[in-house]
Amino acid sequence: MARVYNFSAGPATLPEEVLEQVRDDLLDWRGTGMSVMEMSHRGKAFVSIAEQAEADLRELLAVPDDYEVLFLQGGAAGQFAGVPLNILGDKAAADYVVTGNWGKKARKEAGKYCDVRTAAATEDQGFTDLPPQSAWDLSANAGYVHYTSNETIQGVEFDWTPDSGDVPLVSDMSSNFLSKPVDVAAHGVIYAGAQKNVGPAGVTVVIVRKDLLGRARADTPMVLDYQAQAEADSMLNTPPCFAWYVAGLTFQWLKRQGGLEAIAERNARKAEKLYGFIDGSDFYSNPVAPGARSRMNVPFLLADDNLNATFLEEADKAGLSTLKGHRSVGGMRASIYNAMPEAGVDALIDFMRDFERRNG
Ligand SMILES: *Cc1c(COP(=O)(O)O)cnc(C)c1O
Repeated sequence: MARVYNFSAGPATLPEEVLEQVRDDLLDWRGTGMSVMEMSHRGKAFVSIAEQAEADLRELLAVPDDYEVLFLQGGAAGQFAGVPLNILGDKAAADYVVTGNWGKKARKEAGKYCDVRTAAATEDQGFTDLPPQSAWDLSANAGYVHYTSNETIQGVEFDWTPDSGDVPLVSDMSSNFLSKPVDVAAHGVIYAGAQKNVGPAGVTVVIVRKDLLGRARADTPMVLDYQAQAEADSMLNTPPCFAWYVAGLTFQWLKRQGGLEAIAERNARKAEKLYGFIDGSDFYSNPVAPGARSRMNVPFLLADDNLNATFLEEADKAGLSTLKGHRSVGGMRASIYNAMPEAGVDALIDFMRDFERRNG
């Protein structure tokens, strides 16, 4: 068996310790004689897994008691609809801050349910920067303000918490969730699909302030209804049991790493190394403004596009997998989530240096 360094944007690499635990538990979870995939979600065993995962997540992120934590299905894309359905209340409009492809998609989906306004956007700059808070045109009567804390495709990340005044702040944190401490109390809703930084695809975490519950539109599908799911401990219907369990193992792994402060430090170091190398080279480039660069997804271009295919082929042979950039930006993208070891980033930089020497 040979594991590679997997730079996929999602589904993405998981900690090896977590995969080993899954393997060890697979046929017989703690003497139950069955796999987590095979047990009733209402049984004692799974309920203990679910409760432990929530407790660990609350501890890691320091989630205040006046917030519900939900484990839902339908991905982050499901929450593009879930947010307006649950949060608008008697408001007819919502403000969107659009800093990349995912924010655009979120705004488009919300447009089915309300009047979407663009409070700020960086599309005319090719999504290579963040709009400063002072330039946001927020509406006083918006039901909420939505932003994407990390744009997975463009590699643009907020390293500050926006101020939405009295209007609930909503964040799609799919691709930097649990990569650093976050001020949960500044947000009305935080949501994240698991498959970037937390676990396998299939489970979506929603953290919602309790005073925002109970205002869902009457025609909200029950599986997207935050209040109904909160009352049912996210088990209004069969939850994504296995994905929830693996996410729980990742939370425990994160605690063993020293929690979010420690992982944030490591993530910053990994990103600084890679950007530092790119900036010091004439052969590679990254177009994002330094203050807006993502510590999770690092897109980069080669000086000559014609070398892209060779780069990817040789990287693959060197055990550096899935570096192709998203089609909308081209070039390469190295996703270096929590589970990417520092040695993986070092190996990538060594390969890039050698490739440049041979082709630059
Ligand atoms: C991947 C991603 C999504 C979409 O997630 P799904 O779980 O596929 O719906 C949404 N937002 C961001 C920031 C993402 O990275």
